[in-house]
Amino acid sequence: MRIMVTGGAGFIGSAVCRHLVTKGEDFVLNVDALTYAGNLKSLRAIENRPNYAFLKANICDEPVILQAMRDHDIDAVMHLAAESHVDRSIDGPDVFLQTNVVGTFRMLSAARHYWSELSADRKQTFRFHHVSTDEVYGDLPFDSGIFTEETPYKPSSPYSASKAASDHLVRAWHHTYGLPVVLSNCSNNYGPFHFPEKLIPLVTLNALEGRELPVYGQGLNVRDWLFVEDHARALEAVIKKGRPGETYNIGGRSERSNIDVVRTICAILDQERPRLGKKYADQITFVTDRPGHDRRYAIDPTRIETELGWRAQETFESGLRRTIRWYLHNDWWWRSIRETDKGERRGMVHAG
Ligand code: NAD
Repeated sequence: MRIMVTGGAGFIGSAVCRHLVTKGEDFVLNVDALTYAGNLKSLRAIENRPNYAFLKANICDEPVILQAMRDHDIDAVMHLAAESHVDRSIDGPDVFLQTNVVGTFRMLSAARHYWSELSADRKQTFRFHHVSTDEVYGDLPFDSGIFTEETPYKPSSPYSASKAASDHLVRAWHHTYGLPVVLSNCSNNYGPFHFPEKLIPLVTLNALEGRELPVYGQGLNVRDWLFVEDHARALEAVIKKGRPGETYNIGGRSERSNIDVVRTICAILDQERPRLGKKYADQITFVTDRPGHDRRYAIDPTRIETELGWRAQETFESGLRRTIRWYLHNDWWWRSIRETDKGERRGMVHAG
């Protein structure tokens, strides 16, 4: 397949590009505007491969996107480009509406135009894959419930509301215009190349630097964690085998409270980078909770497991150790970001 990946310089998008390009069956055109979250260093391992190309472009620029689809003879679009950080969406929602809602609308318009020009055969096989989040489903009680593909939408933050809006647009383009779309809604990802403002890298790097490890509220909020390379394999399964019009929930059946995650990181660091007479967990502090903070997210991945044969391969503990070791050995990637992203974001502890 010749796949256009939007947001391929971001955390998950770069994992998808590395996965597909290294596997070697597909051609990947990475389209990314390189916002603060985009980083071409994450693509170093594949940047010279013949089955990979990069285009710096904004998804809101419909003519440029359409032309890129034509120039590269695209068979499928995997749309990941988005503003993705909940705390930033609370501070400044405008860009979230612009990129996540208007940008997805522009992507759909370009894809529909391009799709209408394809031969009958290629029209059948073309796919527009919209990559979304479990946060569109809202909040679950601590002790019961799980998100299935039928769970009604109840987004809580400007981020999740903007993603919910984009999901609705994608489904509308399927129902109204027949565009062959597939959607996936995934739980919290973690792994190498994760922007240092997110929970797991932030705690790891703050801990190593002897800084405080601020945790929202009492740290009881629960997230369902998935190793990013498992997500990349799931996205490949969805775009290649998913049924048009269908939604697939993706998750690793790994619910953990934030405080458990932070304590586990500290315990791994105590083993990997021991400090005499001092535990990393001593640096944990509790800070005022985020407004509208959802209590719990939990994904039921039965559909993707049974229909598409995908299953998470990494356990949370093995994936977390791999991630922490990666941060310990790859400061060439994160140090410059930490240095330019100083200030209030250093104190933020949350991953979506
Ligand atoms: P990210 O913030 O790391 O990366 C986003 C990428 O999109 C960046 O490279 C950025 O430069 C690019 N981008 C932003 N605005 C753009 C625009 N207007 N035009 C072109 N490119 C633009 O995000 P991520 O964590 O990799 O998430 C990727 C997708 O997966 C998002 O759609 C997000 O909603 C979804 N998702 C993320 C998670 C998670 O845990 N991180 C979980 C489920 C779903």
